[in-house]
Amino acid sequence: MNDGVPEVQAEEGTIGPLRYGEPVYRGCDNCGRAVKIVPLLSGNTLGGSLWSDGYLEAPQLPEQSLLGKCRGCGEIVCLADLPPHPAPGIKDKSEDYTFVPLAPDDYEYLLANLDNVSAAYQLYIRIMFWQVSNHKRRGSGDVEPLSDSERDNLMELQKLLGNAQADRLIKVEVLRQCQAFEEAEALLADEAFDEGVMSIVERLRQLVAERNAGLVKLFSCEPEQEIPVHFHR
Ligand SMILES: [Zn+2]
Repeated sequence: MNDGVPEVQAEEGTIGPLRYGEPVYRGCDNCGRAVKIVPLLSGNTLGGSLWSDGYLEAPQLPEQSLLGKCRGCGEIVCLADLPPHPAPGIKDKSEDYTFVPLAPDDYEYLLANLDNVSAAYQLYIRIMFWQVSNHKRRGSGDVEPLSDSERDNLMELQKLLGNAQADRLIKVEVLRQCQAFEEAEALLADEAFDEGVMSIVERLRQLVAERNAGLVKLFSCEPEQEIPVHFHR
């Protein structure tokens, strides 16, 4: 699989009402079966929530996956890289050609098999594994400890992050969730942040001061309100 990350993320940012394009069919590069992809033309963050791991939960902005599992053979495929496939005929219309979203186990499998992949692709997989593994913690007040593989992933993720503001905020959150509070504190104190993300910085400072390692919701918006700040890479 190669690195198609930037194109897919650029699509996701389009502002407007929630609007889908016509389904596109591509062929699984393992078994040749059709894989149906419904492109998102536009969306917005009205009524959404932003979590401290950067995960955006927005009813008007469904996640656009880069990877999926083929329902024919179960292989993980890079959706953007698959070749075109003719739309299924009338007699196949009842078949389910959608792809299966990846689960934490799938990302773990990919991380165990990272041969010669680009840093950008590895970063994408590590952030996805982190966020998808955190889904079990969303909405629960309990601080479920990180598993060994989650912790290993966060340690490796940290090494891939640079000095851009979004990277630094993710790094603070990685350190906080790993209970490396002093290091998180130092990053929050030393570096300059833009006015636009100061509400997030203040909240993270407060959580670090409380020695709270739990995943938290940073913003929870009303249906007519958009999420004020993003820190997506
Ligand atoms: Zn397949």
